[in-house]
Amino acid sequence: MLAVHRSPSSPPVYPGAMPSDCLFCRIASGEVPADVVARSPRALAFRDIDPKAPLHVLVIPQEHHADVTQLAAADPALLAELVELADQVAGSEADGQFRLVFNTGPTSGQSVFHVHGHVLGGARLGWTPA
Ligand code: 5GP
Ligand code: ZN
Repeated sequence: MLAVHRSPSSPPVYPGAMPSDCLFCRIASGEVPADVVARSPRALAFRDIDPKAPLHVLVIPQEHHADVTQLAAADPALLAELVELADQVAGSEADGQFRLVFNTGPTSGQSVFHVHGHVLGGARLGWTPA
């Protein structure tokens, strides 16, 4: 298994748990409403509340993992399930082409520390993250 090194400023880690203060755990459990567009056995896809593209859906595992590196180390099959769900959503909601973004760490723009892939598409996308 890959070693994951974290700086002291990293967010708290909740391996496999469902922390009650995690927004996306609460969406996954149905406690917080969301516009769910697709599901797979262990993941769900819902529209981002502040879309940055005509298609902007988030794919998340039901189980809590803080970011994509931790998910990849803990359960690579679940990460593959997220990619498959993203492909399915892009096919049903757009033309099948998509960008899949995992912001990882606050500097990258991660604000919710439950792993989520941004599925972006529905238009020709620009490339200006900085
Ligand atoms: P991050 O910045 O962590 O990569 O992405 C978090 C995303 O979650 C943002 O794009 C933000 O718009 C979205 N988001 C935050 N709160 C909610 C919410 O309550 N519901 C939904 N559907 N999306 C949310
Ligand atoms: Zn969570």
